[in-house]
Amino acid sequence: MTFPPLRDELRGIEPYGAPQLPIDVVPVQLNVNENPYGPSAACIADIAASAAEAAATLNRYPDREFVALREALASYLTRDAVSRLAGARTSTTESSIAPEQVWAANGSNEVMLQLLQAFGGPGRTAVSFAPTYSMYPEYARDTNTRWVAGHRAEDFSLDLDAARDLVKTEQPSVILLPSPNNPTGTALPPEAVGVLCEAAGDEGIVVVDEAYGEFRRSGVPSALELLPSYRNLVVTRTMSKAFAGAGLRLGYLAAAPEICDAIRVVRLPYHLSAVTQAVALAALRHAPELLGKVDELRAERDALVDWLRAEAYDVADSDANFVLFGRFADRHAVWQGLLDRGVLIRETGPDGWLRVSVGTPDEMAAFRAALTDVDGERA
Ligand code: PMP
Repeated sequence: MTFPPLRDELRGIEPYGAPQLPIDVVPVQLNVNENPYGPSAACIADIAASAAEAAATLNRYPDREFVALREALASYLTRDAVSRLAGARTSTTESSIAPEQVWAANGSNEVMLQLLQAFGGPGRTAVSFAPTYSMYPEYARDTNTRWVAGHRAEDFSLDLDAARDLVKTEQPSVILLPSPNNPTGTALPPEAVGVLCEAAGDEGIVVVDEAYGEFRRSGVPSALELLPSYRNLVVTRTMSKAFAGAGLRLGYLAAAPEICDAIRVVRLPYHLSAVTQAVALAALRHAPELLGKVDELRAERDALVDWLRAEAYDVADSDANFVLFGRFADRHAVWQGLLDRGVLIRETGPDGWLRVSVGTPDEMAAFRAALTDVDGERA
């Protein structure tokens, strides 16, 4: 037996994670889809005061049910769902989300791991469609859930008939559907979620991972609207991306109360620290400000797609705050060339493609200049 006595299937596996390099060494960091804009002085002051208040009670365990935070997230999601329904097809009551329908954890990664802990496990199957977020098979591996990856079409969209057939054949207890997808940026068409919720039935939950949901282009609906129609639907969100709170580690979901109650069985007690709860509540009070750059980032994203296409790159349509582009015979050389010029992007996705996050106008100018320089020899 080799030491340490690690599970056989974990031997030799590298921990997941993009390279983290100091900002003074690599000034333009466009590799992990963060929001480039930090909080204002007023927001920082509110967060600091809230953390100080929480600090005064650190000898006690935090509220295990994080009631105040669930209420604040529910009201944020209700406002988000209602404000997007410009045509008022759905009444406010139908689209309102109650605190019992909300769950949260340390990042949406932990939320989804908890979903697999509760709904996956030995003898059960989880399904997604590749190329997709690389953590999904890790949640499955870590919970001893069988992993099955269907495939996306050439343009990274879902072939709905094939997807439905796969669900019928594999009968997964968890289906992971990112919308927009990482690393391709592809959003799901409105009918996809309903079709797959019906195909899964009561034996499976359909998790629509909307980590990048706030960046979707206008006219693309959120799966939140479908919650009243499908009790097996779960919509996950995060404060890491549009909300400019990647350092906060707060992800959450909206689903039927029975689903939230099931997660309570597997969560560790007091998993959300008093500091996390206080800081997340403070950040939610500043939601309009923290989300205030989303429109600018979407415009910057669209301009980036146009520029890359004008430069004759292949570019996937994007509803997120990043863009997948290619194709390169040696993508690693391009990635390295950009890094040598102080621009860090991500070597991920199908072979030949690279992913770049949308930053400030200055950062995007630096990226464009570096790419032009590196790839100047391209035929
Ligand atoms: N889902 C997708 C599709 C992601 O890309 C990410 C982060 N890269 C996450 C979930 C997890 O984000 P977090 O844990 O920060 O909420």
